[in-house]
Amino acid sequence: MREKIKEILSQMTLEEKAGLCSGADFWSTKGIDRLGVPSVMMTDGPHGLRKQREGADHLGLHDSVPATCFPSAAGLASSWNRDLIWRVGEALGEECQAENVAVLLGPGANIKRSPLCGRNFEYFSEDPYLSSEMAAHHIKGVQSKGVGTSLKHFAANNQEHRRMSVDAIVDERTLREIYLASFEGAVKQGQPWSVMSSYNRINGTYASENDWLLNKVLRDEWGFEGFVVSDWGAVNERVDALRAGLELEMPASAGIGDAKIVAAVKSGELAEEVLDRAVERMLMFALQAEEKNQKGPKADLAAHHRLAREAARESMVLLRNQNAILPLAKQGTVAVLGEFAKKPRYQGGGSSHVNPTQLDEALAEMSKTAAGVHFLYAPGYELDRDETNDALIREACELATRADVVVLFAGLPDRYESEGYDRTHLAIPASQQALIEAVSAVQNRLIVVLSNGAPVEMPWLDKTQAVLEGYLGGQAFGGAVADLLFGDANPSGKLAETFPAKLSDTPAYLNFPGEGDKVEYREGLFVGYRHYDATEREPLFPFGFGLSYTWFAYSHLATDKTSLTDRDTARVSLQVQNMGTRAGQEIVQLYVRAMNSSVIRPQKELKGFQKIHLEPGETKTVTFTLDKRAFAYYDVDLHDWFVESGNYEVLLGRSSRDIELGTVLEVQGTRRKTIVFHRNSTVGDLLENARTAGKVKEYMDAFGLGDVLGDNPEMMLAMMKYMPLRAMIGFGQGKYTEEMLVRDLQQLNELANAEGE
Ligand code: BGC
Repeated sequence: MREKIKEILSQMTLEEKAGLCSGADFWSTKGIDRLGVPSVMMTDGPHGLRKQREGADHLGLHDSVPATCFPSAAGLASSWNRDLIWRVGEALGEECQAENVAVLLGPGANIKRSPLCGRNFEYFSEDPYLSSEMAAHHIKGVQSKGVGTSLKHFAANNQEHRRMSVDAIVDERTLREIYLASFEGAVKQGQPWSVMSSYNRINGTYASENDWLLNKVLRDEWGFEGFVVSDWGAVNERVDALRAGLELEMPASAGIGDAKIVAAVKSGELAEEVLDRAVERMLMFALQAEEKNQKGPKADLAAHHRLAREAARESMVLLRNQNAILPLAKQGTVAVLGEFAKKPRYQGGGSSHVNPTQLDEALAEMSKTAAGVHFLYAPGYELDRDETNDALIREACELATRADVVVLFAGLPDRYESEGYDRTHLAIPASQQALIEAVSAVQNRLIVVLSNGAPVEMPWLDKTQAVLEGYLGGQAFGGAVADLLFGDANPSGKLAETFPAKLSDTPAYLNFPGEGDKVEYREGLFVGYRHYDATEREPLFPFGFGLSYTWFAYSHLATDKTSLTDRDTARVSLQVQNMGTRAGQEIVQLYVRAMNSSVIRPQKELKGFQKIHLEPGETKTVTFTLDKRAFAYYDVDLHDWFVESGNYEVLLGRSSRDIELGTVLEVQGTRRKTIVFHRNSTVGDLLENARTAGKVKEYMDAFGLGDVLGDNPEMMLAMMKYMPLRAMIGFGQGKYTEEMLVRDLQQLNELANAEGE
């Protein structure tokens, strides 16, 4: 194919080359008939196909061809199920093939910095490892069907507020370890056909014209081979963007961007080789897409609906289940309250909005699942109003008293969260809160089912016996809820994000969404559970938490070694047993804690997880392999990942706050950092280094402080810890000179950097 691309390129005019670097319209690339270059189509994404019908308005948000609406990413990530998300990806790929779509615009791998971000429902997690694993498997699934993906929105697009102009100020270590790591794993494992650059600026430069981000990190370091497309309308200066590694401007810019490129090449401002390289990538994409196009085989939409139901079941998280009120018996009277029971909120607003092939209502599905139950229904609130409706509440309470149990549907209405703007608080509407309070006063067997794309506060939690977090569960949401409530399936999701007790507890609370066009990520690495751990703040529900109708015992933790170097891998295994009477799935989580680090590190970080299915009484061995990255931090001086020699605790648990087993590995870092002591290095710096500590006493003597240590040497040393070496000259009163310092510094640096132990 390379030959063919070179051949085509050699025949292209400058105008044709520039033309390939922007779309033909809102969704397609340009074709060149005379050279056999096809025009190909891209559409949203990520959890369903949104292909506009012919003649729809250009945004076409609500008029697209019917497609299976799977749970959105917030839910899918709660499944922690790599295989499931792969299969969802395959189904999405099949639907793209059926509609002649070459690229699905997704998945989104941005980190949930604040629960307020309006688009969190489209993102996977607050944790980069979990997020990148989910994204990678989504990508692999879609691409296994010969359809490309566009991993988005690269990068640091963590809010909707002023999203097209805001400058995210993030230090490099935080970027690398949190925000970029989420993309890094997905790019390296999944090799998406394309990456979508985000709208915002990062440390002063637009993502779309950020040479460091697109050329250096994405391509040179991570080995990305595809093309970079701008988010729709994200190009600021077209020529700068091209130079920085952005091949495709979307949507079409009415020829304006193309003309700028042509002019820049003609004036010599832009080297034609830069344009040629971009064009080669676009040709590669177009030809590859054509080759893989299966020319419209029909997708099995019924099978996809069943998959959507399975995915929704696994995406839901059982947060509370007092007195094992769930699962419900399939008999007696159940009052179903809340308008959501009939009008499901199953997806988020904006560009990801899908026109579903069918839509399960919870009430109807519950009636099918539990035909022996007598169901009562009352709306309880008006979805389009926040104000409490007393008459509706009275009616709901009256039904609640007549029923054996109440299932109350609550959550966030569409207008509360969407692409394009952020939330300002974490509450559900007052009308729904009032309903929960009122019903709980007359019926204590109260189960709440939530529909929302991101955490909500639950001041009413104690009034309930059970809470099922349904997220935005896709078109089969209703059926999945029925399966879980009546025990046809066992809940197996766990939170991929922390649910805070209140907004002011959240990591970015003081710096979200920033001031004017600037947002500073001052919490640094301490995003999500890293923050709650470090500040010892009690979340409402911690990262990784979720209940089941059975429970699991952890035992027999073993490692294949107790010490290793950062070039080796370590295998960690444990046994997990299903102790209950129902089959179920457990998500085993592995965290690593650096026990003695010289740099700031989170208390623990997720480095592995596995979801396993266990029959009642069954035991399985779960094995993890840990490599360098499990122990490393990003060293901004080395510009690389670095492992400090030391002890690392490996923690295994059911959630970030329920650690069951632990062991310690001694890890030897094989890379040495060059140490440079200078005039302003401190006495303490010398003391901390085992190779130079011995010299300190000599210096003390040299400037006559040896005796001063007196009866309380520790106190004196503590006081002198922060004294720079150059101060010895003054304090030495002539006994220690500038020349002696120069001589000693040389000796110290040799000592510190000598070969060997
Ligand atoms: C969104 C992208 C989306 C694109 C095309 C943009 O506004 O940020 O996620 O893929 O529109 O609809």
